[in-house]
Amino acid sequence: MEKISIVVPSYNEEKAIPLFYKELTKVINKMNINFEIIFVDDGSKDQTLEEIKKLEKKDKRVKYLSFSRNFGKESAIYAGLEASTGDYITLMDADLQDPPSMLPEMYKGIKEEGYDSVGTRRVTRKGEPPIRSFFARKFYKIINRISKTEMVDGARDYRLMKRQMVEAILSMKEYNRYSKGLFSFVGYQTKWLEYENVERVAGETKWSFFKLLMYAIDGIIAFSTAPLWISVIVGILFCAISFFAIIGIIIKTLCFGDPVGGWPSLVCIILMLSGIQLFCIGIIGAYLSKTYLETKKRPIYIIKEKGKNK
Ligand code: UDP
Ligand code: MG
Repeated sequence: MEKISIVVPSYNEEKAIPLFYKELTKVINKMNINFEIIFVDDGSKDQTLEEIKKLEKKDKRVKYLSFSRNFGKESAIYAGLEASTGDYITLMDADLQDPPSMLPEMYKGIKEEGYDSVGTRRVTRKGEPPIRSFFARKFYKIINRISKTEMVDGARDYRLMKRQMVEAILSMKEYNRYSKGLFSFVGYQTKWLEYENVERVAGETKWSFFKLLMYAIDGIIAFSTAPLWISVIVGILFCAISFFAIIGIIIKTLCFGDPVGGWPSLVCIILMLSGIQLFCIGIIGAYLSKTYLETKKRPIYIIKEKGKNK
């Protein structure tokens, strides 16, 4: 019989894990297919690993990996996908924000409708701070304009994929992983299911506003080189402006002589230009730093402990 692997990245989710398991098993026990549930403990500092071990003892389908420290959700996803053995693979958050009840419909999309993958997207951002939603929307607008890889607004990592697609994702071994982009980059037919945002059952989100902002910048750097062109465009623009300004100054000097004035405007111009130059150097630096990390070829994750269920 075929098997679905469920990969669950978990970081400090001691309260959510038992609730998650209860909800999930309610759904999967009714489905006529084998399952494996792979918890990836991303270096949690609370009792998450102990909670997972309890489940592993009572349920043969539960497997786990535990990292030596916190490597981040992207690394946990990669490790979980690598460890999975199912014909179909899904990613689910441990906080029940990805409703397990959608799984049968997702499976149907692949099995009966012939899609390679079924993804989910939130159509509302209910329960989220308004500024966060505002910037999220803006981010999708910008990145879709400057990147060839399409990013779907509100798309979750929660999706069911065929083995073939997972192998394609695993073949991208880059260190700076931006999953939303990677899923889209590999292509394949994806069906989108929409749902209303659900708030997490227990614990707290690991994403502060600042972390999300950095993540958004990482996404742009990983999937677009457009910012590198800013300096070229601004440079050409300023050359053109200065050309006309020089002609103007020459004419003015010939007609009216050369009074020493205008140093405040000179200071403003110097400040503005050096600001633009530093900004552009910063952009190059951002790309360079990513390249630097990439060339080191450090492991994406390090496993400290594995479960015994095979
Ligand atoms: N997560 C993780 N490593 C991290 C941060 C988060 O494995 O460094 C997991 C977390 O346990 C959860 C999922 O990723 O299962 C989504 O995290 P969270 O709910 O904090 O994000 P949000 O839903 O608020 O975007
Ligand atoms: Mg969440």
